[in-house]
Amino acid sequence: MKIKDMFEQKEHLISFEIFPPNKNFSEEKLKNVTAELVEYKPDFISVTYGAGGKTKGGTIEMASYIKNNLKTEVLAHLTCVGSKKSEINDYLQEAKNHNVKNILALRGDVPVGETEEIYNKGDYKYASELIRDLRKNREFHDFSIGGAFYPETHYENNDLVDLFHLKNKVEAGTDFLTSQMFFDNNIFIKFKEQAEKLDIKVPLVAGIMPVTNAKQIKRIIELSKCSVPKKLDKLLEKYGDNLESMKKAGIMYASEQIIELLAYGIKGIHIYTMNKPEIAREIMKNIEFAR
Ligand code: FAD
Repeated sequence: MKIKDMFEQKEHLISFEIFPPNKNFSEEKLKNVTAELVEYKPDFISVTYGAGGKTKGGTIEMASYIKNNLKTEVLAHLTCVGSKKSEINDYLQEAKNHNVKNILALRGDVPVGETEEIYNKGDYKYASELIRDLRKNREFHDFSIGGAFYPETHYENNDLVDLFHLKNKVEAGTDFLTSQMFFDNNIFIKFKEQAEKLDIKVPLVAGIMPVTNAKQIKRIIELSKCSVPKKLDKLLEKYGDNLESMKKAGIMYASEQIIELLAYGIKGIHIYTMNKPEIAREIMKNIEFAR
């Protein structure tokens, strides 16, 4: 089923994100992870694409496995930076052949070991160009297409310019938008109000990253530049050196974030599981009453 239609039918959607197999995470292990994840009944599972430029394969294969073997809806990520139209079309054709018809259309970043020259190598400069092209393509125009957004602004821009580009991305044919992680719900709510003033009407999905490992999250926060509220800072300070306690505190923090966002009527919650099903399990238990 198309995610666009799911949003129309349900009060809100809850989804999980996984990354495809790589040299440290085997396909077999990931199949076990996904088999457990579907038990917690997400509305769909998304599979990332070549994140960081290291792994390009595996997205459609894993999405196909979840959709066709585990009978759960999927969203396949796709980045266009440095790609030719023919490569994008091959990917989309492969997706279609496997009955995968929801795509998160992204620009991507400069892969490790490459320079910014890559932005001039491919046929697309921005995600909106990919989305516009998709909508014009008779083969793929009926895919449900999502895009990304940044409640605290994309690192290359200031907030007004970024919002303007986001509006353009929606007008290109985006059905829903999923956010980068954030830890302060007020920032997300304020962004939603600003987007509404610009007449951005598609569902805004909140990307929730459970903080379960202090070291790892500090690196991610540095890269994404998202702000850390005092409450989370205190949890990191107190439990950061104790893996088990940090995991419990991080799961509680993420659960509270989700419960509050649902009370605000947010249409979608996307949980970055980092391929750890136990995190999804605990959060789903905590938020069960709010679903
Ligand atoms: P765009 O929407 O193209 O925006 C990129 C920048 O360009 C922004 O600053 C924007 O304001 C600016 N811009 C847009 N249009 C124009 C224009 N016409 N003129 C000038 N400037 C413009 N990366 C991966 O590699 N794989 C993944 O699977 C992946 N999944 C992600 C999932 C989510 C939910 C999110 C939030 C990010 C994900 N990313 C992934 C990271 C993403 O690729 C990067 O954040 C990337 O830097 C921007 O991608 P975008 O699609 O938002 O780009």
